[in-house]
Parts: sequence; structure tokens; C-alpha cells
Amino acid sequence: MKKGILSIGLVIIFSTAGFSQDRPKLVVGIVVDQMRQEYLYRFQSKFGEGGFKRLMNDGFMLTNAHYNYVPTYTGPGHASVFTGTTPAYHGIIANDWWDKTLKKKVNCVGDDTQRPIGNAEGHGSVSPARLLATTVTDELKLFSQKKSKVIGISLKDRGAVLPSGHMANAAYWYDSKTGKFISSTYYLQALPAWVDNFNTQKLSDELLNKEWKTLLPIEQYTESSNDDSPYEWVMKGKEKPTFPYDVKKLRQENGNFNFIFNTPMGNDLLEAFAEAAVKGEELGKNTYPDFLTVSFSATDYIAHAMGPNSVEVEDTYLRLDRNIADLLKKLDSEVGNGNYLLFLTADHAVVEVPQLLKDNRMPSGYFVDDNAIKNELNNLLNTHFPGKTLVESVSNDQVFFNTTLFSSDTRTSGIDYMIATELIVNYLQAKDGVAQVFSKNTIKLGDYAEAGIKGAIIRGYNFKRSGDVTFVLEPGWISSDKKYGTTHGSPYSYDTHIPVLFFGKGIRHGSSAQYHPIVDIAPTVSVLLSIKFPSACAGQPILEIVGGK
Ligand SMILES: [Zn+2]
Repeated sequence: MKKGILSIGLVIIFSTAGFSQDRPKLVVGIVVDQMRQEYLYRFQSKFGEGGFKRLMNDGFMLTNAHYNYVPTYTGPGHASVFTGTTPAYHGIIANDWWDKTLKKKVNCVGDDTQRPIGNAEGHGSVSPARLLATTVTDELKLFSQKKSKVIGISLKDRGAVLPSGHMANAAYWYDSKTGKFISSTYYLQALPAWVDNFNTQKLSDELLNKEWKTLLPIEQYTESSNDDSPYEWVMKGKEKPTFPYDVKKLRQENGNFNFIFNTPMGNDLLEAFAEAAVKGEELGKNTYPDFLTVSFSATDYIAHAMGPNSVEVEDTYLRLDRNIADLLKKLDSEVGNGNYLLFLTADHAVVEVPQLLKDNRMPSGYFVDDNAIKNELNNLLNTHFPGKTLVESVSNDQVFFNTTLFSSDTRTSGIDYMIATELIVNYLQAKDGVAQVFSKNTIKLGDYAEAGIKGAIIRGYNFKRSGDVTFVLEPGWISSDKKYGTTHGSPYSYDTHIPVLFFGKGIRHGSSAQYHPIVDIAPTVSVLLSIKFPSACAGQPILEIVGGK
């Protein structure tokens, strides 16, 4: 009896004392820009032991995790991972979109009230102002009364800004004019010493003076197509899209510092910057957990240009595998193996080069560009509404009306709107390559939890920001006039199926083929941190990972 009471007391003492100790010292959230789940298997035999394989062998892997909305683009992807909700609520409906009020294209992280920090001429009118929901990183800030440090880094501004949220200490991105990492006045008045020191070392310049050769002898890249392929982009200064790439020479004709995006050196640079951030900010040495978000961008640029079957993409992933191994090693030594929680996912995947699919008798095609569609639709509407240019933008597979041009009489303007909508819906539906078309009113009547493509449209649709008519192309179709390279953005599995790996503090080894939408990541991290869920969270904690916690 006495022993029983004593042990209950001990349990209570241990669990109270263990509450804060049970939290990871640092959370590292890695987003690989444009990574398919299948790469983990296709390239597995060539990976080292310390990178992706370490995450797979010691961590927990979801093999059936997907984006559950359209469009599957970078900005919405990063926002959804960290807010646990979709564009319908977090408002990041694309990378750039037509702003109905401002009557111009806006960028998802553009903010004219902010100025660059680190290079006055740099691209720094940037902030998370358009992100309408809190992130898991914001919630950690709120929980800790701002004592947790949150840092976001990426070559792309949106890859750094959206994950680290509204309350981040800082987000840093790459300035393609100077090769330095910069920030904006939203976060800082001056770069901290560790960023200045990193920039002074001129690592980007050093990396861009190297040659890009395959990591392994090229004949070993049996998981990819021939290096000399018609489906790949030929850089300026090259005759064929083949190895080796003399980066030092090619940078002169291909944007100089900007060229780092198109080489794995972009990921090398970011990994080195991640290590510098861990050390410079003393991440994981705080009483409260810190949070570092890292988004690798070179993967996206290279696969856009070369397609997912290229030797270039395989080599980029073999090198990224080494980058991740190095980062894990650094975290082991700085924070301690077992003291940090890490997750890795992607912001979208990608379709094969459509021309490759066509040449292999697979369904696919090329859809006309936005401007051509806009002209076609305006011509169509002109017969019913003479003298008016009613369609002011076609972008991201959405049609935007200039609604002020409908009848000024409120009794008939609604009828004008309905007629114009109906004409466009029917016209687009009959077009080659279009799978489905939805009007704003159809989407209004839908349910957020709806299945299929319509559900994906509803979850990706923000009533304030999205267009009047939205359409989805057939599987394998993209909007492009080039027969090489490829893209993403659709609701189909080739674009939605991404890796999700959890590793480190509180994570047991295992895997699950249970379906999980991308919005389940943020609440899972919330549970592992014992903090509140993000404000518009629409996901559920992944029970296979959090268990009974
Ligand atoms: Zn992306």
C-alpha cells in the first residue's frame, strides 16, 4: 500500500519534471522544393548512410502523404505545411496572383511597406503579411512568450518567410545580385554578425567557380534516362544538356549569382548557411525549444529544367543526401543526437516531361498560355457584351472578371455575371486538355471536406482572392510552349505525393501507408511540442507518430 502511494508520487514528480525536458531542444523543419516520394526509393541504393537513409532507418516515414488542394505550387505548399491548413484559409493561393482590388499581380510574400536589409538594392520588399493564419512556428512563439527563437532560411524568399511565420526572429533568403543572404525591415534593422560573417566569406562565389561533375561515375546512374536527352533544357553556352557543367564559365552567360539556383551548389550553400544559423543563433541551447525552417530550392529549378528522369536530378538528390547527412551531423554535435526533432517534406512533386509521355503513348499534352486564353475568352464575351474587355486576368488556371464593367444597374449586373460565367464555363469545358471547370458559385455550394478534384479546388479556393472561374487540366497536361522541362500545380498524384519523414526526439522507427493530407504535419508538431494548434488548422495529428501523447 505504502509502496503504491510512493510510486504514484514518483510518477507525478517525474512527469511534471519531465514535461519541459520532454520537449525537443530544437525543431528543424526541412522542405525540399519539388520532391517526389518515389525518389526515396529510386535513388535509395545510391544514398549514403547518414542522410535520407538515416531518416528512413531511424525515423518514421509516411509513404502515402499528399497535398489535398490545388494549386500545388511553392508558396501554398510552404504555407500549408506550417499552418496545417489550405489556401482556402491561409490565403496563399499561388506564388503570384491577380489582386482583384489593386488590379495588379502581387507576390505571395511581397510587401511594399518593407525594405531590404543586407543590400539596399536587393529584393527585400518582403513579409508574411498575406499569410492569413498562424504557423506552428508562430504558436511556439506565443507559447514561450517569444522566448523560443524562430529562424527561416531558403534561397527563395517565400521558402524562408512562409514557414517561419509572423513572429519569426528573422527569415533570410538569397540575393541573386550579390550572392549574399539578406532579410527585410519586417524582421531586422541590420544583419546579425553571424550573417555578415557568412556573407563576407563569399561562399556562393567560391561554389560558382567549381565544375558540376556527377558525384559517382556517370555510367552508374542507371535510375535515370540518358544524359543527352531531348527533354532537357540546354543552357546558354552549352550545346547539349550533358555533364560536366563548367559552372565557372556558364555563370557568365546564365545570370552570374542567380545561376546557383540551377546547380546543386545552391543546396550546398543553403546547408552551410543552416549550419551557420545553428551556431550563430545558438539554436537548441535555450530553455524553450527553438525552431529552424530550411527550404532547399535548387531541386526545384533543376527538375523544372531537366525533368524528373534526368541524370541532373538524380545527381542533385545524391548531393542533397550528403547535405542532409552533414546537417544531421552538425545538429548531433551542436544540439545532441536525440535532443532535436526534425521533419522533412516537400512543397509539391512534379509531372514527367509531357513530351516524354506523349512519345511513349501516354496521355498528356500542352495547353495554350494564359494570354491566349484571355484573348479567346474576351472574344467570346465580346459577342454578348460588345465593347467591353471583361476578362482582366487568366492566371494559375483561374479567370478573373473586371466586375465593374458589368451593368451598373444592380438589378442586372448579377445577371450579366451569371451569363458571362456560364459562357466561359461551357467554352473552357469543351476545350482540348480541360478536365473540369468550376464557377465561383459551384465552389460556394461545395463542402471543404468534399472528395475528388472538386474537393481539391474548394480547399485551394479563397473567396477574397481567387478567380471567378477555375479550371483543371487533364492528367499529364501542362501549360507550356516548350517541349522540354516540366512543371507542377495539378491535383493529380504525380504532383501531390510527397515524402514525410519525422526523426529524432520522441520519434520511434516505423512507416505507414495510411493516407495523410499535408495539413497533418503542423498539428503533429504541435502535439510533439505540447503547444496550441495553428489558428486555422484543418489537419489531425498523425497518430502513427504521436501515439497516445
Ligand atoms: Zn516549389
